[in-house]
Amino acid sequence: MSDPTDICLTFANGDQVFVRADLAPRIVGVDYDGDLVGEDHGMLYALTPCCHASGKGMGHDDDEGYVGCRACHEEVDWKYGDVYSEAHIVARVV
Ligand SMILES: [Zn+2]
Repeated sequence: MSDPTDICLTFANGDQVFVRADLAPRIVGVDYDGDLVGEDHGMLYALTPCCHASGKGMGHDDDEGYVGCRACHEEVDWKYGDVYSEAHIVARVV
C-alpha cells in the first residue's frame, strides 16, 4: 500500500520501505526488528509499524498505563516508548 506522495527509502541491508514524504527526512535507519528508526531533536526512537509514528505513554495510572502509537493510539510494544541509541540501528538509510 503506497501513496503517490510516499518516498521509497533504501537501507544499507537492501530493505526498501515506503514512508510519507514529510516523515522521510526524520528517518535514519531500521532496527533489529525491521522497524524504522526516526530522529527528532537528536533523539532516536523506533517508529510504529501501523503509522510510522513515535510511541507515547498512555493511560493515567501505572496499572493501566501502556505505550500507544502517537498517531492512532493503538497499544504497541514498550520498545516504541524507549529512547534508542546508535547501537539499535542495524542498517542506515543510504
Ligand atoms: Zn498507529
